[in-house]
Amino acid sequence: MSAKPLPRITAETRPYWEACAAGELRYQWCPACRQPQFYPRVACARCGGRALDWRRSAGRGVVHAVTVVHRAPSAAFKADVPYAIALVDLDEGFRMLANVVGTAPETVRIGDRVRLVFEPRGEVALPQFTPAARA
Ligand SMILES: [Zn+2]
Repeated sequence: MSAKPLPRITAETRPYWEACAAGELRYQWCPACRQPQFYPRVACARCGGRALDWRRSAGRGVVHAVTVVHRAPSAAFKADVPYAIALVDLDEGFRMLANVVGTAPETVRIGDRVRLVFEPRGEVALPQFTPAARA
């Protein structure tokens, strides 16, 4: 069994991954710009400010773009193909790239509402999305 790669955890991203392991999605907030930032960085990408706060996301958003992966990037992912990868616009105003699981990949559409789920992988948990229940 070949293992899937684990995310590389750095000083900037450690609080993020620790939150994921605890079942929370966190993003950075720059008080100077009053803007969210994702992925986590040591400084604000807009103003360079380093006084960044961490906020918790409700984990709900909309699919901005989606692609279906048919060729596994490595042997570890062979059993997963095809799978959907989407850019998701979170309700808090930031965008992240993640898999969309729990549905047939070709059914994921731009504009679909999705919600966060975590896939445990080793000592970390990877944020992914699944279609939100339609009202
Ligand atoms: Zn800023």
